[in-house]
Amino acid sequence: MHMYFEKTFYLSAFLLLASVQPFYAETPPSVKEPAGYSIKKSDAGLWEISVDIAVQDEADEAFFDQFAKRMENTSKLIWEMTQGQFYIKEIKISDKCSDGRIIIKKGAKDWDILAGPNAMGGTGATCYESNTTNWYVYAAGRPPTIILTHELLHGIFKFKDENSCACIMRGTQIEGREINKICDDTGHKETGKSCWKRLLDRYDGLKYPDPAYKAGSQPPPMNTVKKHNKEFNDKKENILNKKLYLEMAGIQHLDTGDYEKALKSFQEILKLEAGEPAAWYNIACTYALMNRQKEALEAIEKAIKNGFDDIEWLGEDPDFAQLRQTPEFRKLLNRDK
Ligand SMILES: [Zn+2]
Ligand SMILES: [Zn+2]
Repeated sequence: MHMYFEKTFYLSAFLLLASVQPFYAETPPSVKEPAGYSIKKSDAGLWEISVDIAVQDEADEAFFDQFAKRMENTSKLIWEMTQGQFYIKEIKISDKCSDGRIIIKKGAKDWDILAGPNAMGGTGATCYESNTTNWYVYAAGRPPTIILTHELLHGIFKFKDENSCACIMRGTQIEGREINKICDDTGHKETGKSCWKRLLDRYDGLKYPDPAYKAGSQPPPMNTVKKHNKEFNDKKENILNKKLYLEMAGIQHLDTGDYEKALKSFQEILKLEAGEPAAWYNIACTYALMNRQKEALEAIEKAIKNGFDDIEWLGEDPDFAQLRQTPEFRKLLNRDK
């Protein structure tokens, strides 16, 4: 379900995950790890997240501090939701550039990509390329902690939107929802796996429930490294914003069944950034929906080679329902890289 582009602020309804048993390689193929983000297990058994943040405008000290505060709150929420097993150890925040995993535009109104039918309000955020090692979050200057955290979890935990379960991954805004937790089998109402189940499958040694966790405890303090750039890095900003626009356009075409136009948009992304894994993945979805199986398989292969790393999702994505029946598809997933 070509999921890379999604908005928290005005979420359209997503398809329910098809009720299929995932099958995928025991050992997913290894992929490159682009800079700007890491998650490492400490000797004390905690998973420590480091993430680079880029402000596409000029930012003063006060802006850096207010955003660092948001990230501290995000760390607290992640700590609480994972029962004291994950937290944000460090952020590096820079201005006048796009070199980060969280990319901020201080005022969303002057963010030209936001014009048009997909326009987002001043507090929104979006996760792109969420099933790849290249994921990044676009955010306006003051995203609420809950939205910022939701988008980060798409990237770092490969969580899906869970539109009807009581969970932070519930995409739609509903009164009285319980959003500050990760759903387990009891709270999970969608088909497919609960978010806790996905997490437990992904991280060796993770516990749920964790008997060592004390409710109300705090994560270790977050370190902040700040950098004020002298010059704008305009070129990269331009490319990212164009990519975003093309991806939105391509997925709209895909959703309305205009496959030729969708292909064109995704191929344009590859001209801006050769090998972009989400573009290859979306091309694979498009070919699969056009029933052009050979081209779909080749595109999946390209996506994996370039950083698509959610092999589990390949086994569940409804776009590949037909393709999944073929021996070539199974072979592709089980191949060692
Ligand atoms: Zn979402
Ligand atoms: Zn959930």
